[in-house]
Amino acid sequence: MFDLKGKVAIVTGGNGGIGLGMARGLAKAGARVVVAARNKEKSNAAVRELQALGAGALGIGVDVTEEKSVSAMVAETMERCDRLDILVNNAGINIRKPAQDLSLEEWRQVMDTNLTSAFLCSRSAYPHLKRAGGGKIVNVGSMLSIFGAAFAPAYGASKGGIVQLTKSLATAWARDNIQVNAVLPGWVDTDLTRRARQEIAGLNDRVLAGTPAGRWGSIDDFAGIAVFLTSPASDFLTGAAIPLDGGYSTLL
Ligand code: NAP
Repeated sequence: MFDLKGKVAIVTGGNGGIGLGMARGLAKAGARVVVAARNKEKSNAAVRELQALGAGALGIGVDVTEEKSVSAMVAETMERCDRLDILVNNAGINIRKPAQDLSLEEWRQVMDTNLTSAFLCSRSAYPHLKRAGGGKIVNVGSMLSIFGAAFAPAYGASKGGIVQLTKSLATAWARDNIQVNAVLPGWVDTDLTRRARQEIAGLNDRVLAGTPAGRWGSIDDFAGIAVFLTSPASDFLTGAAIPLDGGYSTLL
């Protein structure tokens, strides 16, 4: 039910953080994982780690904000792996500024990286998933897919959009046997949050108090849901947005 042997998966931002946690899960379940990101050194290290798990992992450089780069990533995957079954749209950034201080360029940078990228990657993957007889797309949202955030308007808008994009693609491609779902992480210990934890006084305590599980998420918390949402176990699940947050979203 959870077997991914013979499947090929692209994980954007798979070279670190939550993407690497998901990539580890997919690799352990038998998938061949394409680590797709910009930083070559980080990607090489992730590929070596996944290969040590016995997976046929490889790295492909991509900037998910660039249409041509996304098309080239999918084309190279097809060239080197001959098929595509799974796409994890995980790459993301945040720029923490209130709306009155955010430039249009910064707004676009966040929207392009977090939301438009998921559209571009999904659109490029679609014909290959369809040809394979079906496939799986996992989009990574956030608690800010649910709540607003005074300090991150573009991030909140992009992550709200991820949920609606997920539902739209899920309905459009259901008859192609392509399931599209979203994971909404709570507070997870990664590069993205490590700086915030250092810079924002009291953040660590607030996260611990607000998370019923009483801890930060680790990237390995994302391995299981990645396998579930990309394996036959979830074949009748589509258009869902699943919080993975130690209970954070149930309290507010
Ligand atoms: P992270 O460790 O900073 O990882 C972000 C990843 O995105 C990196 O692998 C980065 O690789 C890649 N990336 C960024 N811009 C890219 C671009 N233009 N093209 C290709 N790849 C790009 O952060 P993370 O916490 O794991 O975040 C992963 C996802 O989870 C994001 O969508 C984030 O919004 C979401 N999330 C995280 C948390 C949390 O608490 N950590 C909570 C909710 C949601 P390169 O720099 O090498 O390109």
